[in-house]
Parts: sequence; structure tokens; C-alpha cells
Amino acid sequence: MLNHNEPMSKHCSLRAGGEAQDFFIPNTLNDLSHFLKNNQKPILMLGLGSNLLVRDKGFAGVVIKLTQLNQLTIVNNIIQAGAGVTLAKLSRFCQSQELNGAEFLSAIPGNIGGALAMNAGAFGSEFWSMVDSVATINTVGEVFKRDATEFDIAYRQVTPHHQNEYFIGANLRLAPTDKQQNIKALLKKRNDLQPIGLPSCGSVFKNPPNHHAAKLIQESNLKGFCIGNACVSDKHANFIINQGKATASDIEHLIKHIQQTVKSNFNIDLETEVIIIG
Ligand SMILES: Cc1cc2nc3c(=O)[nH]c(=O)nc-3n(C[C@H](O)[C@H](O)[C@H](O)COP(=O)(O)OP(=O)(O)OC[C@H]3O[C@@H](n4cnc5c(N)ncnc54)[C@H](O)[C@@H]3O)c2cc1C
Repeated sequence: MLNHNEPMSKHCSLRAGGEAQDFFIPNTLNDLSHFLKNNQKPILMLGLGSNLLVRDKGFAGVVIKLTQLNQLTIVNNIIQAGAGVTLAKLSRFCQSQELNGAEFLSAIPGNIGGALAMNAGAFGSEFWSMVDSVATINTVGEVFKRDATEFDIAYRQVTPHHQNEYFIGANLRLAPTDKQQNIKALLKKRNDLQPIGLPSCGSVFKNPPNHHAAKLIQESNLKGFCIGNACVSDKHANFIINQGKATASDIEHLIKHIQQTVKSNFNIDLETEVIIIG
């Protein structure tokens, strides 16, 4: 499916942002490969849009959403998951296979592609700790299998050794553990602390070494501070909420204001976790 002038506010959890010139959802990997072979435009891979802000002027290229690459199987204890599988589904699948250790993923609203790109994490666990290898595709539609060692992994940061490749799937291995976390309890803990259900991108900033971004923002008295319709959450200071009609520009101005205030109060630079495009 190929659309034009697609509002990215429909696809990003902040419910703001400009239009994508082209918007493509391949039905199969072959479809994707064929499309890429013939594509000349800049590419933006989209997961669930839960950590993404496209500036109001839009994205002059093609946004590709891999929802249909959603195969999920297990062979010899290796889970094979397409980039379009949601983390909630993966977490439930692991539970159904009596494999422990993926419970934390149920709290992260993303898919495999986005979690690979971001090294998503929660409750002390990170996605790449489960990754054995990944499947990638390059800008001309060639497919590769890459070992986890071909990526440098850090906190919310993934640096591939090969450039211009996108994730199309992952082979995952869970370390044997008897300990199973209670998913309901994890979700409750998250709901108690975070403004779940309101338009946001989760944590806007990474935690600086030895600090909590939320604490620095709260101690700067910024809870509830708004620019336009974008406001710092009263519940969790590292969340920005779109109160209804926030533009991407409102959100970005608020991000900059928070960074400047924290810098002048604590001499600490807050680095964004949210990816800003356009
Ligand atoms: C309420 C809420 C709570 C959240 N809590 C957490 C949390 O606890 N922990 C956490 O880590 N994150 C959290 N997040 C942020 C977000 O869910 C994660 O970063 C998630 O991994 C993003 O996945 P996504 O599929 O939505 O990716 P997107 O937001 O769509 O994309 C994020 C980045 O990944 C790139 N990307 C996406 N797919 C691919 C692909 N196939 N190949 C290459 N690059 C790709 C995009 O281009 C973009 O740069 C939260 C967000 C919300 C809204």
C-alpha cells in the first residue's frame, strides 16, 4: 500500500507532526525488497511511532511501516520475530512458551524494529540482551543476517557496523531463568508512575550518567509547564503530553526550554531519547 501526503500525527503516539511525502506498507519482504530497489527517496522506517516526532514541515521522503512483517515462531528455543511484531505480543508469546525474561517488554509500546533501533528497556532489562542475530535489508533491497556482535550496544543506543541497513527481523534467545515477573504487577507499577493513555513518547530524555532526567526536570519546577498545547506531565516530569492541539514545534520548543533550564540549574546536558525527524 502506497499513500501520499500522510499525516504522521496519525502514526506517532505524540499525535503531532507533519506529513510524509510517501507512506508505504509492504505486504511481504519481497514487496519491500522490490520497492527499495526502485526507490530514490530518503527513507524513514517506522515502528509504532512511540518514540518519534516528525517536524511540522513533514518528511520529504518515504516512511515505511513494517506491520505486515509479523511472523513469530520458535525453533530450537530461538524465537524468530519479524520487525512488525509488537513487544506486547512477543512478551505474551514467550509466556505461552514458558520462557521467562521477556515480561518487561509488555510495558513498552513498540515493535521489534523500533526496539532493535532504540535498545528499548524497562525495569532494569534491555532488548538487545535477548538478541542472537538480526535480519536487515539495505537501501537497494538486499537482505543480510547480522550477528549481535556486529552492533555496538549502549543505553538506548545502537550503532551498527554496517551503514544504511534496516531491521526486518530478529532471532532472540532468552537466558534460562526460573524467575518469572508478574506482567500485571509490572503494568500496574508503570501506570502508577507514568501518564499512560495520554499522547506522549514516553521518556523524552535519556537519564544522564548518575542522574535521573525526571528528577532534574522536577527540581527545576517544570512539572505542568506548557508551551502551546505541549506540557510537562504533572505525574512524571520526563514525559511531555500533547494536551490536544500541540504542534511538533510546540513540543520541540518545550524540549529546548527544559534542556536550557536544567543546564542553567545543574550544568547537566539532557540528551533527547525521542527521535526528531524532518
Ligand atoms: C507511554 C510510553 C511508554 C514508554 N516506555 C518506554 C520504556 O519503558 N522503555 C523504552 O525503552 N521506551 C519506552 N517508550 C518509547 C518507545 O516505546 C520505545 O523507544 C520503542 O522501542 C519504540 O518503538 P517503536 O516501534 O514505536 O519505534 P518508532 O518510535 O516508530 O521508531 C523509533 C526509532 O526507531 C527507528 N526504527 C523503527 N523501526 C525500524 C526498523 N525496522 N529498522 C531500523 N530502524 C527502525 C525509527 O526510524 C526511529 O528512529 C515509551 C513510549 C511511550 C509512548
